[in-house]
Amino acid sequence: MSDNSLRLVWVYPDLLSTYGDQGNALVVERRANQRGLHVERHDVRSDQPVPTSGDIYLIGGGEDRPQRLAAERLRRDGNLSRAVANGAIVFSVCAGYQILGHEFINDLGQREPGLGLLDVTSTRGEGERCVGDVLGDIDEPLGLPQLTGFENHQGVTHVGPSARPFARVRLGKGNGTGDGTEGAYNDTVFGTYMHGPVLARNPQIADMLLRLALDVNALPQVDDRWYEALRNERIAAATQPA
Ligand code: GLN
Repeated sequence: MSDNSLRLVWVYPDLLSTYGDQGNALVVERRANQRGLHVERHDVRSDQPVPTSGDIYLIGGGEDRPQRLAAERLRRDGNLSRAVANGAIVFSVCAGYQILGHEFINDLGQREPGLGLLDVTSTRGEGERCVGDVLGDIDEPLGLPQLTGFENHQGVTHVGPSARPFARVRLGKGNGTGDGTEGAYNDTVFGTYMHGPVLARNPQIADMLLRLALDVNALPQVDDRWYEALRNERIAAATQPA
């Protein structure tokens, strides 16, 4: 943070924004603006170096081939790892989440190394693709309301001992391991399978990222009636009997 200005970096929109993940950048930007913060947003294409000076990095979901290309380029670039070593916050979705882990199975069926920023390992699920609405309880220490989102992935993610599951699902598959976990996090790096886009459906997560970036315990309240209406609509739709 410098001069009331927050640096928001959206990583590789050309490869990883298949499921409306741009919405996550818009929500962080909007909620920062509502708190009087200026946001310098950098959309970093995969042929450009990732800046190391960001406060918050967002990385979205993608199909299997773009996911491999993104992992190769991020490993070669190295700057996301440098930024995290300097304390940057990263919020990742689906393919982005898998890339932040130790490895995942790529479109060629091979083990592809990730960045190792989050203690998770992804394999290819043998069963049906995980597709559908998700509801979950976010890990208690984070103090956030119920998680809602939409998942669409074949990968299955195992959370290692240095990370915590981000949530426990009430509905849906989440990490797909059958243990009810969804996503993972450590001090500043977060991963989830939730699309939606997830921050539009769960703006309190965007506020958590802002609090971490600003190093504050609370932010001024904003009018969340629109978000609440959307959340309630999605929760009602997801829990309606078929
Ligand atoms: N390609 C990955 C999988 O299917 C991620 C998909 C996604 O980002 N939605 O597991």
